[in-house]
Amino acid sequence: MAKVEKLTRAELPGGSSHPVHQQPCPHICREIERPLQGWSPVHQPEPAPRLELTPYIGCVAGCGFCFLNGYPGLYRLGQEDKLITVYKNYSHHLKKTLEKLRVAPPAILSPYTDPFQPINDRYGLAEELVKECVLVNLPLEIITRYHIPDEILAMMEYLPASRVQVSIDPFEREGPVPHYRERLDFMERIDQLGLDVVVRLDPIFPGEENPEGVLANMATEIALRELDQVVIGFGRINSNLHSRFVEPAPELYEKHPDRDNCWLVASGERRRLSKLAKGIFSSRGINIGILGFSSLQEEFGDFKTPFKNTLPLSERESSGEKFQPVERCPGNCRVCSESVCGIGRLFESPYRAERLKASDWERWSEQRLQGELLN
Ligand code: SF4
Repeated sequence: MAKVEKLTRAELPGGSSHPVHQQPCPHICREIERPLQGWSPVHQPEPAPRLELTPYIGCVAGCGFCFLNGYPGLYRLGQEDKLITVYKNYSHHLKKTLEKLRVAPPAILSPYTDPFQPINDRYGLAEELVKECVLVNLPLEIITRYHIPDEILAMMEYLPASRVQVSIDPFEREGPVPHYRERLDFMERIDQLGLDVVVRLDPIFPGEENPEGVLANMATEIALRELDQVVIGFGRINSNLHSRFVEPAPELYEKHPDRDNCWLVASGERRRLSKLAKGIFSSRGINIGILGFSSLQEEFGDFKTPFKNTLPLSERESSGEKFQPVERCPGNCRVCSESVCGIGRLFESPYRAERLKASDWERWSEQRLQGELLN
C-alpha cells in the first residue's frame, strides 16, 4: 500500500515518489503507460465489449457501497487515503491506441471512478477523451453521478452512437454528489438536447425499508421530467462490504458463482425487486431494463437488451478515416444471432470472455485488413 507522508509526497509500491497536489482535492499526477484494456465482462452489466477509459483512479464521493472498497494498489490509495491519481496523458494514450485499430469497441467513460468528480474541473481529461472519440466517430458511453459539462454535451451531439447513464442510488446512501433531484433535472436537459439518457438506479440492495415507497417516489420524479428509460443494477458485495450488507441479512445474499469473496443479491430477492420495479415504473409509462441478469431482463425488461438503443462495434479502412458502425451488429453479444463481427471470443461466451486488451483489438484489426474478419 502506498504511504502518504503529511500529504506532501506519496511513495508508491515499486519505489516511485510523487508530489501531492492539494487543489481541488489531494491528488498525484502520473503518466499512463499500460495498454488500454476493456471493461471486464465479469463486472460489466451488459455483455458487449467496451474500451475502458479511466483517467482518474479514486473518487472523492467515496460512496459507502462502492465495489472498489478493498481493491488494491492505486484504487486503495483513492478509496482509503482519498488521494486521487490523475493520468494527465490519457487522451494522448487513447489517440495512439486508436490509430492502430480498424475494429474497435465503443468506449466507456468511466466504469470505475467518476469522470466528472471535481478534479476534472482542474484537468479536463473527460473533455479531452470525449473529443478524441468524437473526432474519430467512436461510439461512447458515459456513466456518472455528477453533472456533465455543457462542452461535453455539445460535442456528443456530433456522435450518433452515444449514451449517457446518470447513476442514482434511490435509497440516498451516496457520498457528496449532487442531489438526485438536481441530477434528474440535468437529465431532463440532456434528453431535451436529443441525447440518449438513461436513469441508472444503482446499486439496489435488499433489506431497505419501504422499497415500494422509495421506487414509487423515484418513478414520480422521473415521469415529471418526461424521462422514459430506467435501468436497475443490483449491488455486488466484496469482502470489505460483507459485514455491512451480508452479515445482517445473509438470507438475502448468495455467493457469486464464479468469484471468491463476492456476494450477489439472492436470486429470489432480485426477482422480487425486479417485479416490484416493473409494476411501479410501467404504471407511469417508464421503460425498464435489468442489468447483468439475462433471465430477469427477459422476464421484466421492456427491450431485448437492458437499453433501448445499443452501441455497435466500429470499423474503418485506415487510421485517417472515421469509424463506421459494423452493419447489423446489435451491440449485445448475448442476443447476437448473426455474429457478423466473426470474433468468437465475443459471441461464444459473452459473459465469460477474459478482459479484452488493446492488443486483442490490434490483432483483430490486422485480421480485418487481411480480409479474415468483417469482409
Ligand atoms: S456482431 Fe454480435 S458478437 Fe460481434 S460485437 Fe456485435 S453483438 Fe457482439
